[in-house]
Amino acid sequence: MSDWEAVIGLEVHAHLKTRTKMFCRCALEYGAGENTHTCPVCLAHPGALPVMNRCAIEFTIKLGLALECEIAERAIFARKNYFYPDLPKGYQISQYEAPLCGPGRLAIPVDGGEEVVRIGRAHLEEDAAKTVHAGGATGRSVGATASLVDFNRGGTPLLEIVTEPDIRSAEEALRFLRLLRQTIVELGISDAEMEKGTLRADVNVSVRERGEAGYRPRWEIKNMNSFTFIGRAIEAAVRRQIAAHEAGETVVQSTYDYEADTDVLTVHRSKEEADDYRYFPEPDLVPVEPPADLVDSLRAELPELPGARIRRIEPSVGFALANELVSTGNDRKAELLAAEGVEWRAAANVAMNRGDFLPENAPALAAILQANVTREALDRAFAAAAGERIDAADYLAQATVGDESALTPIVDAILAANPDQVATYRGGKEGVLGFFVGQVMRETGGKADPKVVNRLVREKLAP
Ligand SMILES: [Zn+2]
Repeated sequence: MSDWEAVIGLEVHAHLKTRTKMFCRCALEYGAGENTHTCPVCLAHPGALPVMNRCAIEFTIKLGLALECEIAERAIFARKNYFYPDLPKGYQISQYEAPLCGPGRLAIPVDGGEEVVRIGRAHLEEDAAKTVHAGGATGRSVGATASLVDFNRGGTPLLEIVTEPDIRSAEEALRFLRLLRQTIVELGISDAEMEKGTLRADVNVSVRERGEAGYRPRWEIKNMNSFTFIGRAIEAAVRRQIAAHEAGETVVQSTYDYEADTDVLTVHRSKEEADDYRYFPEPDLVPVEPPADLVDSLRAELPELPGARIRRIEPSVGFALANELVSTGNDRKAELLAAEGVEWRAAANVAMNRGDFLPENAPALAAILQANVTREALDRAFAAAAGERIDAADYLAQATVGDESALTPIVDAILAANPDQVATYRGGKEGVLGFFVGQVMRETGGKADPKVVNRLVREKLAP
């Protein structure tokens, strides 16, 4: 049995969150009634001319900068010719030889190192319209009674990010996709929601023996829209290809569909040669030449990216917690509290278990957290801090009483008033402890520190 490794490359598509479509002024609106956002340009009426969406170009450059890509001085839109009912022009406007963003990289932080995935290119194109297969049980064309086209999606600006085949496992592919998705979302350029179809991925998978140079024929699994299914589809393709190679069978370069309900890959079509889309420069659009000062100002606007934040927080809380905080989007909250003196791990815990709060409330919340107030006061403080400026003094009055000299007489009085329960406890039923603690809490209006009360009651009842 040989030692095999997977060779995986990804093509990720994200719908850009612009107000209007790529080449016309139709509004982008997810979930709008079918064919309510169309015009002569996106329906390809003769003589209608495209006009570039400047915002989409800026969004693409932003993503390119975040992925350390070279930004082209001259990018060219090209026609990609093919026929399909959801493509009224008979071609898609894309970028071919001169994409807006050239080679780059995304470094994924892992414990004790990083995994680097090289980006081959990122370019801008328009999405096709959406074909809906009606009347069948599965929503696929097989068994459908009619196929309808919704042109609302046609012309949506679509960012395509193509990686080099640097990924070696399903888990690594998912780590890459999650970090890329979070980067896209934080840049504010796309909602990148797989379940809504605003983020999709094509996965290229082949295998080779460890140490082998070059690549074997690959399978392309198209249009994946769930992280779980992407992981499973990669594993299924790797399993089947290894089995085929070991049995001496030929693996043919093909595109595949992944059937999630049965966990099976079915051949969509085999292609021994690349498709010929007869690309040529789009004659109705001028080349895109982003001015250097525009690129510089977009670079200056970039926020601190998730990978960098994980690395920065890691020394305070360790890799696992830093990774969890950043990937759940809770790191900024934790950092605000830590900056006000809350111990880092406690701040991380609060950030992950409490709701959002206004940043200007961080000093007040830090003071309240450090003052050991009652749970009820803490709940009230966080509930209020989400929507209005709070004053720590309003909550600090409810500090817990942890002072033994104040609590001891109360504990003594409660034990004296309940001789039967004391006897029960001493007889071995330690569950009665909760009764005493509850009584003390009631006597102090909930302000007693339960940990201290617990200890005092135990000490008093000890034989
Ligand atoms: Zn339109």
